[in-house]
Amino acid sequence: MATYIVLLGPPGVGKGTQARILSEKTGLAHISSGDLFRENLKNETELGQLAKSYMDRGELVPDDVTIRMIRARLSRPDCETGAILDGFPRTPAQATALEKMLVDFNGEVNAVPYITADEAILVERTSGRWTCRAHGHIYHEKFNPPKKAGICDVDGSEVYQREDDKAETVTKRIRVYLEQTMPLVDYYRNAGKLIELDGSQAVEDVTKVLQEALAR
Ligand code: AMP
Repeated sequence: MATYIVLLGPPGVGKGTQARILSEKTGLAHISSGDLFRENLKNETELGQLAKSYMDRGELVPDDVTIRMIRARLSRPDCETGAILDGFPRTPAQATALEKMLVDFNGEVNAVPYITADEAILVERTSGRWTCRAHGHIYHEKFNPPKKAGICDVDGSEVYQREDDKAETVTKRIRVYLEQTMPLVDYYRNAGKLIELDGSQAVEDVTKVLQEALAR
């Protein structure tokens, strides 16, 4: 059976950072819906053009489009043994769709790490966040700057501030998260899959607690 891990939590809490670390340690593919949309934006695909207005406003891209994009991505060979899902599902309809599609992929959601932090921390982290243009590697101007200003340590590409990481849009994204994504916390808690983690700790500490919990 394939293994699927869903990372849940508000924008800026560190899902992407933890997903990347976990992917390296487990060998499971890291699937970030936000990165997939940004890739489509960069390549000026039809999907990218459709997603842009929603993303710029800090709103969610419609479920049907998002679900189709994730299904296509999970069908690729590197997801044969499973995946770490970062940013999907974000609505109850997406969670139901995921459950259905995983039956086709011979798996199910095995665990749902749920990372939380106070809103002030989320705003501080997102507003100082720098993202690498080529592969979405994540930095923070204060807490984790790249070695050479403006350049990604891993692939040498430019790092930039996401338009939707500016403070006004972040507040909106947190509101959208509370309204549309929070119901998934109860959904996965009731399914006995939720692993609650304090995301205000240092990256290494969150990783350590997360790995211990997953090992159990
Ligand atoms: P993220 O990088 O996860 O913060 O996502 C950036 C933006 O992409 C979000 O604010 C949404 O506009 C869009 N997005 C990412 N994942 C989803 C999703 N599962 N459903 C709908 N929209 C999404």
